[in-house]
Amino acid sequence: MKNDCIFCAIAEGEIPSFKVYEDDLVLAYLDINPFSEGHTLVIPKEHYTGLLDTPSDILKEIVVRVQKVAAHLKEALPCDGFNVLQNNGAAAGQTVPHVHFHIVPRYGAGGGEIAFANHEGKMDALAALAARLRM
Ligand code: 5GP
Ligand code: ZN
Repeated sequence: MKNDCIFCAIAEGEIPSFKVYEDDLVLAYLDINPFSEGHTLVIPKEHYTGLLDTPSDILKEIVVRVQKVAAHLKEALPCDGFNVLQNNGAAAGQTVPHVHFHIVPRYGAGGGEIAFANHEGKMDALAALAARLRM
């Protein structure tokens, strides 16, 4: 394995995958431990760690491929909806440090969120935080 990256090895065909889509820039394949039927990962063939180090021109191309694959899955499975998830850093649950987008098909009505336990926001704290973060 060139750089110890399992997704690079998949992109290079050194490790097999169940491919759904491939072109010059990206590969899409079924997640080995799917959250739902059709759970698919979209990766660039080039190695980048996450959202922040992926060049923006490449990122745009990846997102267009995510849209294309998601539209195909919705039709071909078919599914009723889907989540697109993209984790950055171990704190966010990223286990493979090669940037990837999850397309998670959802079935039926009211499938619920994927494990977001929200807390009620306090207006003054939100206002102060927005003031501190505004770009
Ligand atoms: P993360 O938690 O980093 O956002 O997601 C990594 C995903 O990659 C997980 O959902 C995991 O099941 C999947 N995965 C890890 N190793 C492999 C593999 O060798 N092949 C495939 N197809 N998926 C993998
Ligand atoms: Zn990689």
